[in-house]
Amino acid sequence: MKLESILLPGIDPKRPLVIAGPCSAETEEQVMNTAKQLAADGIKILRAGIWKPRTKPGGFEGVGSEGLAWLKRVKQETGMYVSTEVATQKHVYEALKYGIDMLWIGARTTANPFAVQEIAEALQGVDIPVLVKNPVNPDLELWIGALERLSNVGLTKIGAIHRGFSSYDKKIYRNLPQWHIPIELQRRFPDLPIICDPSHIGGKRDLIQPLSQQAMDLNYDGLIIETHCDPENAWSDAAQQVTPARLKEILSALIIRDGKQSTEDLSDLRKQIDELDDQLLELLAKRMRISCEIGTFKKEHNMTVVQTDRYDEILQKRINQAENMGMNPDFMHTVLEAIHEESVRQQVVILNK
Ligand code: PEP
Ligand code: MN
Repeated sequence: MKLESILLPGIDPKRPLVIAGPCSAETEEQVMNTAKQLAADGIKILRAGIWKPRTKPGGFEGVGSEGLAWLKRVKQETGMYVSTEVATQKHVYEALKYGIDMLWIGARTTANPFAVQEIAEALQGVDIPVLVKNPVNPDLELWIGALERLSNVGLTKIGAIHRGFSSYDKKIYRNLPQWHIPIELQRRFPDLPIICDPSHIGGKRDLIQPLSQQAMDLNYDGLIIETHCDPENAWSDAAQQVTPARLKEILSALIIRDGKQSTEDLSDLRKQIDELDDQLLELLAKRMRISCEIGTFKKEHNMTVVQTDRYDEILQKRINQAENMGMNPDFMHTVLEAIHEESVRQQVVILNK
């Protein structure tokens, strides 16, 4: 099982692997209090940010190396493993000096190849699991590039964390999940463990449960959930942290479906999907051919490619039709837009021939 590649000794290779702890280590008491409650509930890996990348100066930037000693105390007194975020070479050396067991690279850092390369080089020859958060921008190649930089220096215990993507237009989520991006990552790297960070995707406590369930249904390997002994008074990300007691409820409510078992029962249905996809492709190709004929007509009659009224009419009609058939209007809008874009592209080729 792919989860094994990042597991630390003594941890069950069972989904979900859970990493929990505060957004930031704030005081020794807060770290110890949170960790002791988590350990009592069977959580094996503590997270705590020591150096915090802030969007604007003046926010709480983390306690720095002083907090590493608190994490060491957590290890000694609870037997938990401890993990933290590193963003520079200095962070790596400090974290290793204090015996941190697992590291992660934050979303802002993943977006910067220079920083990732520097971290990778500092980790050369160190046998420690490293998790790479997706970059803040929805760029799968940049995420993969960061993973490759680590693997190129010889690290083997590498995993990915999906924490959502930054967007100007924040409605429900703090960071848009854009599930298709981590799904494509899993398709391209089936052996790479992937962990969901519902805290940073949701930005609100109430979204953690549904997002965690969705991640489990998408066959994610683990969850990293911000957990604080006094979430309301947290020094960073207060709205999205939960108490250890709430974490316990969230985890016990999860329904874990078996990723493999059902494959055989699904083979008939999958065959039907394959056939339908074939038909869809043939229909699309036919639609494109007809659209090319229209392109030729437009060329002969000196007409523009895009006829706004006609496009508008198609959109309205089909979207209503789709909605009556139980499909989401936004979904239909996206599909029609993509089809229209390709039609226009093909007609432009004809016009310029
Ligand atoms: C964090 O884990 O607290 C954090 C800063 O997350 P991200 O890098 O995903 O913003
Ligand atoms: Mn946080």
